[in-house]
Amino acid sequence: MGQGIDFDIVVIGGGIVGLASAYKITLAHPDISIAVLEKEEQLAVHQTGHNSGVIHSGLYYKTGSIKAETCAKGRKELIAFAKKNRIPCKITGKVIVATTEKELPNMEVIFNNGQENHVEGIEKIGPDEIKEIEPFCIGIAGIRVPGTAVIDFGKVAKKLGQLIEEKGRSSKVMTSHEVIGFDKHDFYTSVVINKGAFSAKYIINCAGLQCDRIARMDGLDPGMRIVPFRGDYYELTEEACEKVKSLIYPVPDPAFPFLGVHFTRKVDGSVECGPNAVLSFKREGYGKTDFNFTDTWQSLSYWGTWKMFRRHWRYGLGEYTRAFCKKLFLRQLQRLIPSLGPGDIKPGGAGVRAQALGPKGELIDDFKIERNKNFIHVLNAPSPAATASLAIGDYINEIASEYFNLH
Ligand SMILES: Cc1cc2nc3c(=O)[nH]c(=O)nc-3n(C[C@H](O)[C@H](O)[C@H](O)COP(=O)(O)OP(=O)(O)OC[C@H]3O[C@@H](n4cnc5c(N)ncnc54)[C@H](O)[C@@H]3O)c2cc1C
Repeated sequence: MGQGIDFDIVVIGGGIVGLASAYKITLAHPDISIAVLEKEEQLAVHQTGHNSGVIHSGLYYKTGSIKAETCAKGRKELIAFAKKNRIPCKITGKVIVATTEKELPNMEVIFNNGQENHVEGIEKIGPDEIKEIEPFCIGIAGIRVPGTAVIDFGKVAKKLGQLIEEKGRSSKVMTSHEVIGFDKHDFYTSVVINKGAFSAKYIINCAGLQCDRIARMDGLDPGMRIVPFRGDYYELTEEACEKVKSLIYPVPDPAFPFLGVHFTRKVDGSVECGPNAVLSFKREGYGKTDFNFTDTWQSLSYWGTWKMFRRHWRYGLGEYTRAFCKKLFLRQLQRLIPSLGPGDIKPGGAGVRAQALGPKGELIDDFKIERNKNFIHVLNAPSPAATASLAIGDYINEIASEYFNLH
């Protein structure tokens, strides 16, 4: 392969999914030349560098889904990868805590789901055990999940980038290379970038928040649209950090793919609380008032968005008010740790999730990967895609090996 063309495969997107996919293809086919093209000056500056840093155990995801399978496989591989490559990673465990009777049936559903997904070591606990694990947390029942871990996914992404160049004989990871179009030819595609073009036989779209736009550039109607949801975080002050030992999660609302505002003691020892989930007016905007006309128009001119609003307006309004009112955000946190006061939290960062929304307003839950001629498009890779990244990489390598007939 590779004669007369620049690269056998171009992967669009230097986030953890694009990098893990390129890495796994490189390991399986070291003679194939791959270029990972990332539009930003550095790798992993969007979802991969703006998340909670939690290696999930896999108890939330529908049994048999790609999410459940890749999460279970990916988490083990990621922990081993971190150890081998000296990336800080801590298995801290977590507790999911119910604070009202109303949450108990959902907690039961999650526990049973976790058992069906064979999540190791999970157990139901009562108020006293919650206190033993997290002395400042008050709940009526909970689930202890011993296998949950924390990591810096940005560091994992950067290591993957380095390994792709080391292991692939003529593979390259290039930042500041934005893909802006495609020129199709009989046996190759010219991938047009901001500073020229590369020819490639095959293209894999892992553009995260921009993946539906790349799919449309390829002439594919993806049957969904990316609607960005921003999540804001607060941090506990240094003095308040002692109130959280590891990870404390609420019982999530099953109608949403988000896990609810939680406490995360990160690898560096700081404690983050969040994120909420509000519609963002800019796909890659991290400030509360960031706005981009095209992004907003594309979200609001889509019927799916309005259908989602109609279905979930009450939830959305609650999230919005909490985004702008520290007192209300704090109240949400106090449901798990009642002794937290306004002086215990300070504003933290934010992240924007690429949530695929279907035309009927449905939040697409599972990972979505489509094939179209010489393209593979990753159209939905929300949480736990960072946890599952190495297994998603295997999955994409399998698809690419067969669909692109790689030898
Ligand atoms: C707030 C938040 C919390 C989360 N918490 C967790 C968690 O605790 N655990 C977990 O497992 N997952 C979590 N996730 C999910 C996880 O971060 C994502 O699923 C994962 O990072 C997706 O990776 P990606 O590579 O698909 O996307 P990204 O990391 O967004 O990467 C896509 C890349 O494509 C690039 N790109 C876009 N368009 C172009 C173009 N035209 N040309 C070149 N490059 C382009 C972008 O610049 C970007 O770098 C969280 C996500 C968010 C937002």
